[in-house]
Amino acid sequence: MSYRHVKLPESGQKISISDNRLVVSDNPILGFIEGDGIGSDITSAAMRVWDAAVAKAYGGQRKVHWAELFLGEKAAGIYDGDYFPAETLDAIKELTVAIKGPLTTPVGGGFRSLNVSLRQELDLYACVRPVTYFSGVPSPMKRPEDVDVVIFRENTEDVYCGIEYQSGTPENEKVAKFLREEMGAEFFEDAGIGIKPISPFGSKRLVRKAIQFAIDNDRDSVTLVHKGNIMKFTEGAFRNWGYELARDEFPDQTISEDELWEKYDGEAPAGKIIIKDRIADIMFQLMQLRPAEFDVLATMNLNGDYLSDALAAEVGGMGIAPGANMADHVAVFEATHGTAPKYANLDKVNPSSLMFSGCMMFDYIGWREVSAMINQAFASTVAAGIVTYDFARQMDGATEVSTSGFADALIERL
Ligand code: NAP
Repeated sequence: MSYRHVKLPESGQKISISDNRLVVSDNPILGFIEGDGIGSDITSAAMRVWDAAVAKAYGGQRKVHWAELFLGEKAAGIYDGDYFPAETLDAIKELTVAIKGPLTTPVGGGFRSLNVSLRQELDLYACVRPVTYFSGVPSPMKRPEDVDVVIFRENTEDVYCGIEYQSGTPENEKVAKFLREEMGAEFFEDAGIGIKPISPFGSKRLVRKAIQFAIDNDRDSVTLVHKGNIMKFTEGAFRNWGYELARDEFPDQTISEDELWEKYDGEAPAGKIIIKDRIADIMFQLMQLRPAEFDVLATMNLNGDYLSDALAAEVGGMGIAPGANMADHVAVFEATHGTAPKYANLDKVNPSSLMFSGCMMFDYIGWREVSAMINQAFASTVAAGIVTYDFARQMDGATEVSTSGFADALIERL
């Protein structure tokens, strides 16, 4: 494919798909989008760490060939004011794997969030967020080391679909009339109305990805998080479709929590992943009181949005929380925080959210040694009290360093 502004490095090879799996050479081309605000600071720091870890892990046998792609303000400067150039989407599809910094949502009439547009255009239906504790990181929990979960949040459905009718508009009146007169619904006059679609297709593909991840990564359980006691045909249905999918597609690898007690007296047979479910509100409490009982979580869009930020806070907050948005194969890894404009170009913020998103990316392409090495170097850097401002203000006796200084300290410890 030819592009106007994207240049794919000739030295590398594109990732391809064969037998439903990624085929990754020793010299893959990966896309990166710098992002707005603090994006350039954290991207340059994280890239230095990734490249150093790859070089060290494979002794020069493997190398990432980065292709810069453009979204947001940088794109607008290059593509005549276009914040969301179509060729960036084409390039992500062609390269399969990319990583991005945060993007500003320009304020102005009708401008859709670039992040939401990216997820919709590429049908990145699973938002994946691992939440793991690193020794020494400041946490409000008594036993933060018990937190080790991976959240799979459905990204395309739920109240996020934008099917909403504003109070007082003719559209609202039409929908309200239909609901009252034809469906027998009762609700207050002039209520704004939103619709929450949850489908078997959307639910099952998300739960399938969560269970496959649990299998590939030797995880013990997948918990379906829902509010099905109240919203039976959406949230309750998500739960039921999740169990159905596990029974139909993974009968040899999974058992339900009911079966676990009925047939195995609560002792999981070797190699079986337990599928369980919990009501969303109690889940927030359990993740504070008994987080060790949970492993992979599968959620709908809204519950997952709340839960992933709440859990990130348990292990150090947004400066350290990584994430990815995934389709069946195409995956865009991203820092989960925003552009923090007041810190832009100050070389101040924590690059760890993006850096760990890169670790997820290396795991995804099968280069697990890279993330293992970065995890270990991160732990020893923080244990030495070398941290950026966000951690320093919560730790006694820490040495505060800049974004680039943190990358330097980490690279020294690889
Ligand atoms: P934000 O950019 O995430 O910043 C909120 C606060 O979080 C910062 O003021 C800072 O806290 C802390 N923070 C964020 N990144 C950090 C880092 N790397 N290291 C340490 N601390 C960090 O949220 P926002 O101010 O609400 O949003 C700003 C812009 O970002 C908006 O345009 C929004 O649309 C966009 N946004 C983009 C994404 C995305 O691209 N995925 C996500 C969210 C928001 P302190 O002030 O306490 O130091």
